[in-house]
Amino acid sequence: MELIQTPLDLQSLQIIESNNGFLVGGSHGGDTVEVKRTEAGLSCQCFIAKVSPDHECEHTTAILEYLAHVPTEEDRPNLSQADADYYLSKLAKLDEVNAANEDSLVKQKERIDLWFESESNKIQRRKDYYILALDNWMHLAGYSTKRLVNGTLKVRSQQPEITVIDEDTVLKDGRFTRIVPEKRTVDKAALRKLITETGEEPEGTTVSMRPHKFSYTLSRKEGT
Ligand SMILES: [Zn+2]
Repeated sequence: MELIQTPLDLQSLQIIESNNGFLVGGSHGGDTVEVKRTEAGLSCQCFIAKVSPDHECEHTTAILEYLAHVPTEEDRPNLSQADADYYLSKLAKLDEVNAANEDSLVKQKERIDLWFESESNKIQRRKDYYILALDNWMHLAGYSTKRLVNGTLKVRSQQPEITVIDEDTVLKDGRFTRIVPEKRTVDKAALRKLITETGEEPEGTTVSMRPHKFSYTLSRKEGT
């Protein structure tokens, strides 16, 4: 590190790295900007990056400086507890924005659903007039299938719909019973137990390890 003449204030840069790219900024309460890693290099979605001829902006510049300063993974600064808490507050804000969006989505969707339902009902009522008239015509004319210029009409008798309302009563009549042989099924709990305890992969199964799950809960805000 002695070779670097002007050390960067890494904390003030507020750069978070992932496989997809970087999240930059937000140090002064401003919005963070995502800079993606692409085959062509760094790609920022900000306005300046879009209008500048070489697609450069303060965000890509900051990342390039950051990468020059900490070229390998081991050089990356560790999070302090305060940083971690700050990131958690960022998650809380993003959750809040997302919840507001969802609220808006639900309200808009209710309106759209209502509009569609009312229009659809109107259309269906009109269709019913035509359908009734055509159904009657087929019966009176004795057709089961009739091909016309605009399409084909068909009348088909249907099987009766049977609902068992009292199974015990029906079962008392031997004509309507059958024996279902006992079924052998896979005991998933036993499989899981053996696999987690021994690491074995029993024949007829594949086992793929899954990454651990990260989760967070946010402290409740008082008085809002
Ligand atoms: Zn940018």
